[in-house]
Amino acid sequence: MAYDPNNIFARILRGEIPCKKVFEDAHVLAFHDINPQTPVHILVIPKGAYVSLEDFSANASDVELAAFLRAVGAVARGAGVAATGYRILANHGADANQEVPHFHVHIFGGRRLGRMIARGDTPPQA
Ligand code: 5GP
Repeated sequence: MAYDPNNIFARILRGEIPCKKVFEDAHVLAFHDINPQTPVHILVIPKGAYVSLEDFSANASDVELAAFLRAVGAVARGAGVAATGYRILANHGADANQEVPHFHVHIFGGRRLGRMIARGDTPPQA
């Protein structure tokens, strides 16, 4: 899939749409999800134009890859969930219901999170 430069996170990166920023460095931005699913629900995104983890893992530089993973850890620590626990999640593509086509990791925490994946109500793909 080609990168859509008008996706909502690209617009946040350009400052066209506000966000509640929690972290920023040369390669990474993190901000609160607009529709939090847990008491802590933060999105971490690379500043580069990558559609999803599929694109990011194949095409990002080593510097971008390292900066991103370090930022995820730093953001979780900064949000106060390192001691109590948290979950990270990245959706890629249709089966995962990826809504925003700019790579992002969700950090969920602040309460017990239950099962890793809810029981689906749709059969697996043939
Ligand atoms: P996905 O399903 O693509 O992994 O998740 C996209 C996430 O982006 C959703 O959790 C949604 O609430 C969040 N989101 C969508 N639009 C905005 C926005 O304009 N601002 C913020 N902060 N989050 C957004």
